[in-house]
Amino acid sequence: MSAYDPNNIFAKILRGEIPCGKVYEDEFVLAFNDVNPKAPVHVLVIPKKDYVSLTEFSQLASADEQAGFFHAVGKIVDQLGIAEAGYRTIANTGLNGGQEVPHFHLHILAGKSLGPMVSK
Ligand code: 5GP
Repeated sequence: MSAYDPNNIFAKILRGEIPCGKVYEDEFVLAFNDVNPKAPVHVLVIPKKDYVSLTEFSQLASADEQAGFFHAVGKIVDQLGIAEAGYRTIANTGLNGGQEVPHFHLHILAGKSLGPMVSK
């Protein structure tokens, strides 16, 4: 497990030091628009507690936190009105996964056909 960097950009957003286009918030998560959207809808969902990656979140977060996180994802998807047409979720993890911000986040992409999942 790598040490959590409290100065990463999402930690600053959580502390209110940097603005974000908030989409949803509850006791477990904050969701906001990606600053550099890759689709007409591009929302990031992050846990409020400090987890570097999906690996840490899945291994260290309590059952309540994990359930709360995914319950919120369902609410956000409904709020965005994207469930019927479909959407893609991505959790880039670590070096090979191309993770840039070291605070676990789930990308929700939607609003158009997104094509094949990955290139070789
Ligand atoms: P990753 O590559 O770590 O999976 O994704 C990080 C995402 O965070 C990128 O899609 C990037 O556009 C987004 N991002 C980086 N800095 C900021 C910021 O300051 N505000 C917002 N809303 N998104 C950011």
